[in-house]
Amino acid sequence: MASGSGSLMWFRKGLRIHDNPALEYAAKGTRFLYPVFVIDPHYMEPDPNAFSPGSSRAGLNRIRFLLESLVDLDLSLRKLGSRLLVLKGEPSEVLIRCLKEWDVTKLCFEYDTEPYYQALDVKVKTYASTAGIEVFSPVSHTLFNPADIIQKNGGRPPMSYQSFVKLAGPPSWASSPLSIALPSLPHVGHVGSCEISEVPTIEELGYGESEQDGFSPFRGGESEALKRLRESITDKAWVATFEKPKGNPSAFLKPATTVLSPYLKFGCLSSRYFYQCLQDVYRNVKRHTSPPVSLVGQLLWRDFFYTVAFGTPNFDQMRGNRICKQIPWNDNDELLAAWRDARTGYPWIDAIMVQLCKWGWMHHLARHSVACFLTRGDLFVHWEKGRDVFERLLIDSDWAINNGNWLWLSCSSFFYQYNRIYSPISFGKKYDPNGDYIRHFLPILKDMPKEYIYEPWTAPLSVQTKAKCIIGRDYPKPVVPHDSESKECRRKMAEAYTLNQKLKGMVSEEDLKNLRRKLEEYPEQEAKTKRIRQKLVG
Ligand code: FAD
Repeated sequence: MASGSGSLMWFRKGLRIHDNPALEYAAKGTRFLYPVFVIDPHYMEPDPNAFSPGSSRAGLNRIRFLLESLVDLDLSLRKLGSRLLVLKGEPSEVLIRCLKEWDVTKLCFEYDTEPYYQALDVKVKTYASTAGIEVFSPVSHTLFNPADIIQKNGGRPPMSYQSFVKLAGPPSWASSPLSIALPSLPHVGHVGSCEISEVPTIEELGYGESEQDGFSPFRGGESEALKRLRESITDKAWVATFEKPKGNPSAFLKPATTVLSPYLKFGCLSSRYFYQCLQDVYRNVKRHTSPPVSLVGQLLWRDFFYTVAFGTPNFDQMRGNRICKQIPWNDNDELLAAWRDARTGYPWIDAIMVQLCKWGWMHHLARHSVACFLTRGDLFVHWEKGRDVFERLLIDSDWAINNGNWLWLSCSSFFYQYNRIYSPISFGKKYDPNGDYIRHFLPILKDMPKEYIYEPWTAPLSVQTKAKCIIGRDYPKPVVPHDSESKECRRKMAEAYTLNQKLKGMVSEEDLKNLRRKLEEYPEQEAKTKRIRQKLVG
C-alpha cells in the first residue's frame, strides 16, 4: 500500500480491541487510521411518545450501555495512540462523506448479518468500489460464518440445533491463538471539515437526569466484559457443571448465568475468545457438560439462531415467513399494555417485566415465562408485539436471537409442544418459595405472606390489609384467569396447527380471519349448548 494513505475502521458492533480482525487489518501497513463510530439519531434521540424513557428503538438502559462501551473503546484506543472519532447522522451518508473527505484507501468493518446492516453495507460498499477503496469485512461476530453453514446444508439453514451442531463441527480457528492485544495503532489523520465529537453523555443526547428511576447494574464496555468473563471462568467447577435448564431464574443478587449477553450483543466480548476460554477450562477438568446445556452449548445456540435468521426471508415476522406457523393471534393492546407495564396481577410475571424495564436483562427461564404468558400461554397476543417490547428494552437485544426465541416460545417455529405451558403461579414458586425475587422487584408486595405471594388475590382481606396491599387497589387483580385462559389458548393452538397442516403452511389472511371468527363463535356456542342442557336437566 502506498504510504500516506489511510484506513477507515468503522465500528458498529465489535466494540473491542481483542480479536478484532477488521481493526487489525485496518491498522496494518497504513500511515493513518480513522476509527469511526456513527451515532444514528434515529436510534439514539429521545422519543417523548415512547412507553418508557429512551428512543423509539432503544430503551435508555441500552443507550447508556452503548455510550459506556464507546467511552471504554475510546480509552483503549487512546492507550494505543489513537482515539475514537464520533460522528452523527445517517450512517451511510456520514461514512461516504468521510471517505470522500479523507485520504483513505481501505475501509474495514465487521460483517453483519442483520437486514439493517446488510442494506446499509450495500450502499457503502457500492460507493467504495466506485471510488476504488478496498473493503475488508470479516466475519467475527459469531463462531461460524452463517453463509458457510447454509451452503454446507445445500442452500437452506439447518432447522434443528442438533443438525446445526453436526454440520458446523469444530470451528476452524478453534486451536489457533486469537489476537488478543495490539501493540499500538497508527495515528489519526487530518479530519478536514468532518464534524467530530467526543462520545456524548446521556444528557447531551437530550435525556433528563431523572428520566429513569434506577439503572441497569451492568456497565457497558470491553474492560467490563473481560472482567466479567474472567470472574465467570475462574470458577472452573461452575463452568464444568453448567447446565442451562437447571439455573434458577429468580436469582438476582448473583444471577445463575454469566450475564455476558449484552457484551456479546455489542461485541465488547468476542464469542470466539469466550469459546476458547471455555475450552481451556474444559481441558483442565476431568469432566464437563456438553451442548446443548453447557456454556459452549449456549454459544452454539447463539450461532444456530444467527444462521437460521440469516437464511430465512422475513424471519422477524409471521407473514411471508416459511418457517413460522400462521396463528390467529389477537391484537388486544390493553392486554399487551398490562403485560408490558407489569400490571397482569400475576406477581411472577410482573416482577420479571419490572426487571426487564429496570435492568434490561432477565434470566432465560424468566424470559420463557413472560413470553409464554403473553402468547400461547394466557393472553394470546401476537409474538411480534412482545418481541418489539423486548427488542426495545433488553440491553442484550439481538435481532436474530430475540426473534428466534420469540418464534420458539410462541410455538410458531422450532418448538411445537403448545400443551406445555408455564404456570404463572407454580413455576416461579418452585425456585423461590418465599418470593424474594417478587418482593425485590415489586416492593408493594414485600409484606405479603409467602402463602399468598404468588396469588395475592386469594389472600383474605385482613391479610391484604396487614400487608398494606389491597388487591384491586394497590396491586391489580389477575388480568385473565390462568386456568381457563390457558385451556382456551391450547384449543386455539390446536385449531391453528390443524389448519396449517391441512393447508401445508399456505395459510392466507382470509383463512386466518375465518379461523379467528370460528374460534370466537365457539365459546358462545358452547355456552348455548350448556344452557340448553341445563334447561333439559332442569
Ligand atoms: P448464558 O447462559 O451465560 O449464555 C452465554 C451466552 O450464550 C449468552 O450470553 C448468549 O449470547 C448465548 N445464549 C444463551 N442462551 C441462548 C439462547 N437461548 N439463544 C441464543 N443464544 C443464547 N438473548 C440475547 O442475547 N438477546 C436477545 O435479544 C434475547 N432475546 C430473548 C427472547 C426470549 C423470548 C427468550 C426466551 C430468550 C432470549 N434470549 C436473548 C436468549 C437468552 O435468554 C439470553 O441469551 C440469556 O439469558 C443471556 O444471559 P447470559 O448471558 O447470562 O446467558
